[in-house]
Amino acid sequence: MPMSRAPSFFDTVNIYFDRAAALTDYPPGLLDQIKVCNSVYAFQFPIRRQGGYEVIAGWRAQHSHHRLPVKGGIRFAPTVDEDEIKALAALMTYKCAIVDVPFGGAKGGVRIDTKGYTTQELEQITRRYTAELIKKNFIGAGVDVPAPDYGTGPREMAWIYDTYSAFYPGAIDAMACVTGKPVTQGGIRGRVEATGRGVYFGLREACDQVEDMKALGLSRGLEGKTIVVQGLGNVGYHTARFCQEAGGIVLALAEREGAVYRPAGLDVDAVVKHQKHTGSILNFPGAKNITPTNLALELECDILIPAALENQITAENAPRIKAKIVAEAANGPTTADAERILLDRGILLIPDIFLNAGGVTVSYFEWIKNLSHVRFGRVGKRFEEAAYERLVRAIETATGRVFSDEERHKIAHGADEIDLVNSGLEETMVTAYRQIREQWTRDSRVADLRTAAFLTALHKVAATYLELGIFP
Ligand code: NAD
Repeated sequence: MPMSRAPSFFDTVNIYFDRAAALTDYPPGLLDQIKVCNSVYAFQFPIRRQGGYEVIAGWRAQHSHHRLPVKGGIRFAPTVDEDEIKALAALMTYKCAIVDVPFGGAKGGVRIDTKGYTTQELEQITRRYTAELIKKNFIGAGVDVPAPDYGTGPREMAWIYDTYSAFYPGAIDAMACVTGKPVTQGGIRGRVEATGRGVYFGLREACDQVEDMKALGLSRGLEGKTIVVQGLGNVGYHTARFCQEAGGIVLALAEREGAVYRPAGLDVDAVVKHQKHTGSILNFPGAKNITPTNLALELECDILIPAALENQITAENAPRIKAKIVAEAANGPTTADAERILLDRGILLIPDIFLNAGGVTVSYFEWIKNLSHVRFGRVGKRFEEAAYERLVRAIETATGRVFSDEERHKIAHGADEIDLVNSGLEETMVTAYRQIREQWTRDSRVADLRTAAFLTALHKVAATYLELGIFP
């Protein structure tokens, strides 16, 4: 029967899945098992508020148990509903597979607009949400490990960890029940900026493909490319900052209230400082205001980076997008109809399930750190430094050349936690991009990078089930 309504977010994810699945010959039962959402827990709980009570709606969806634990962020937003959480959980399964993070996908959400609640109320909501997950065994180091997402951050993750620890005193793996925690609470250095840094690594790799850039009429490399970023939150801010540091020109930054635009490029940190000081990014000195904010998406630029929320590029505005590359830093920013329009217009679309996987990659590193109870680099750093130092001295003796203190430091510096996290993230994003690009360019039936990414993920998840011998 034809669908009489517009496809929902979860429908859209499944449309992408089906497109990739049609290129495989796995049995339909296996494809159905990969596609469905394994468990969904929907719940309501009361909080005390303004002299009365308010009932809050929450969800946790575990999309795929093919690997445990499942993993995915917790979102606090007024738009949260079951369909959205299921869609985001499914994206997490495919995302983890693409970057070889050995987890199934999950997602959680609470339907609130954080701006309308005090810090104390947000703490109450987060702690109660955690208690609800504990009741149903929907949280735990080997079961389901949440992380930050839209509207949540290290503070909320610390509340979750603290609540969990209170329920399970002495549990040796309690710290690994949630990732994205502050470093003082068992977090890992580099997690806060990981998604943005991963977007940068992915984009840099895409821009390094000479033939792909040539097809777009662009030169190789990220340097000198003009960039528009929508959403100046965790992902958008760090993405913009890393791209700018690499020589990208950030033409415009868009927030809810409007965008600021400067043809010669904006200083991202200066805009954030101005936003903190005035409460808005608008009226940034030397820049032009753009309102309504979504007009920023239609600016002339090389790279458009939606980093706010889903459904921002639709069939309505897609014909007016002038960017040559759309880099999906947010989850689901492009609707399926819009994607068709962008691809038909020759725009290179770098899909969310690959591009924003940096967050879950570093969350995986944090989980390993928590389970092993030791900071990366702690054991080997000094040993490495001593070995490099001996090598430097041997070279000096053999050649008669004396290295300066700066050269010596660069050569003999042993890897610390942040070095290892960033290098692991870079390796992950570069390898994953090469895999999906290979899938795309090798098989003429694979029309675009998203299909290639889904196909790559599908093969990896299918392999797990086939190895278990469940499907013939
Ligand atoms: P965030 O809450 O830190 O930031 C989102 C920003 O977008 C906010 O500043 C908000 O004001 C702004 N915004 C909202 N609506 C807007 C609009 N219409 N126009 C312009 N700006 C708007 O959230 P985040 O963690 O940066 O997440 C952003 C996106 O990235 C989400 O889709 C999320 O699922 C995805 N994501 C986040 C992570 C992570 O590690 N935080 C990882 C993977 C994917």
